[in-house]
Amino acid sequence: MKVLLSGYNFDADIINELKKKAGWEKDNVTPETLSAAYARISRDPRDIEELRKEAREEVDKSRKSNEAIIFGLGHSSVAEHAYFNFDIIGLSRLAVEQVQKFRMASFTEKSQRYITLEGDFVIPEEIKELGFEKEFTGLVKEQNRVYKKLYDALIEYLFDRNSDIIKKKNGKRTVEGWAKEDARYVVSLATESQFGMSVNARSLENILRQLGNSELKECRDLSKKLYELVKDLSPSIIKYIEPTLYDRTGNAELIDLFGKTGKSPKRASIPEVRLVDHTSDPDRAITAAILSDVKKMSYKDAVKEVRSYDGDKIRKIFIQVLRNRMSYDSVKRYFEFADAVFEIVLSATNYAQMKRHRIASFITENYETELGFTLPPNIDRIGMNAEFNEIMKKTEKLYKKIAASSPLHAQYVLTNAHRRKILLKMNFRELYHFFSLRLDEHAQWDIRNTAEKMLAEIRHAAPLSVMMCCGKNDFTARTEEIFG
Ligand SMILES: Cc1cc2nc3c(=O)[nH]c(=O)nc-3n(C[C@H](O)[C@H](O)[C@H](O)COP(=O)(O)OP(=O)(O)OC[C@H]3O[C@@H](n4cnc5c(N)ncnc54)[C@H](O)[C@@H]3O)c2cc1C
Repeated sequence: MKVLLSGYNFDADIINELKKKAGWEKDNVTPETLSAAYARISRDPRDIEELRKEAREEVDKSRKSNEAIIFGLGHSSVAEHAYFNFDIIGLSRLAVEQVQKFRMASFTEKSQRYITLEGDFVIPEEIKELGFEKEFTGLVKEQNRVYKKLYDALIEYLFDRNSDIIKKKNGKRTVEGWAKEDARYVVSLATESQFGMSVNARSLENILRQLGNSELKECRDLSKKLYELVKDLSPSIIKYIEPTLYDRTGNAELIDLFGKTGKSPKRASIPEVRLVDHTSDPDRAITAAILSDVKKMSYKDAVKEVRSYDGDKIRKIFIQVLRNRMSYDSVKRYFEFADAVFEIVLSATNYAQMKRHRIASFITENYETELGFTLPPNIDRIGMNAEFNEIMKKTEKLYKKIAASSPLHAQYVLTNAHRRKILLKMNFRELYHFFSLRLDEHAQWDIRNTAEKMLAEIRHAAPLSVMMCCGKNDFTARTEEIFG
């Protein structure tokens, strides 16, 4: 066996420095050669090392072959071997959501939990065009002023009550983090953020196309900027960046097609978490997947067989399949054979975390005011809810004014406390991972509340499948409880 490290990504400034030192004028230092070399593996018997050498030495030829293979033959996965990293700075939190919904990419974002906000915000072009710039700027500045007031008051309150923690190493930072975590509920979705994005060329092409089709100008501009950065570097692997007719087709006709539908509940009365659907009898569905694997049976026969098992037998099977797991082990893939669908009403702060779970499927509605807002309990405890409610009221007023022309762009003025409704589907393997992070003691309280409610709901439908679902910090205790 021979294994070679054929490439790895590093900082673009280092590449430029190396090129300068070597006096390398050519623009052919490109990840495309890796795609071209690997594309040839399937039909060329030579060693990969040789294929890579040839691809590097004949970049024009590599580009032609990439185009033929990726776009001619539709073998798009070849483009996944080329990888890019981007620093994205100064995008609003609302626009960030549209970027970070992409599954096949990695993101790390500035945390409003750990970093004090300095009042930087985007004034969206659409808000200017609608004639609301002055009112928008005035309100966002006021929200930011309230942020500072809340932060100062929270710091005082939390420092007072956590003097023992403050004395510990990094204790002061931890307590300051709790204050930031709650004060940020009042800042708007126009607040600027920054994040790193790492992505392969195939996924990037899709991101460029979807962002190019966004209703937010910020996202369309970002699409253009990202393309500018890669178009000369990798012309043969990123090509179809214009939104297709399919991308551009909206839902107007669908709305007509559905015609008159049943009455929707009052928005304010929609529960925060509701399990609305799941695989029929998830415990048995997962057991059937295990049986079909270990006994090499057809899944259909396994389902039939499992129907005859009593609860005790199924419990023993789950205990065996979950035994010997460490807190960082993913549960086995059998758990992907059952799904759960939740309808969740959650704050923007909560959604910002929820959306990062890339294996889940989301359908998201816009933020709005009818669903109310989330008041952090600590703000209630410091007696500043009146001030908080007051700024929410002002926000709602301006939101409604802007929403009369454009509900989508009116979202910019809403805050981290405002809510949206989402439809969320996760398989049970993802649920395990989600609960491990979001029920943990380090999880932010808002998403932890949602996770607790989700687990309570799914436990009724699938008590055995979720028997080991818990936060990371409870893993040892739970293991002892179940396995002895
Ligand atoms: C306490 C806490 C603090 C956080 N703070 C920040 C922060 O400051 N900034 C920030 O940006 N984010 C932060 N996050 C979000 C965090 O970094 C993750 O993005 C988020 O929790 C989603 O989890 P995940 O990436 O493990 O898995 P998911 O996206 O839920 O995926 C599930 C599993 O699939 C696999 N997987 C999915 N995609 C890939 C991939 N591309 N490569 C390899 N494996 C993959 C992994 O095994 C992963 O565990 C925080 C999360 C927590 C819990």
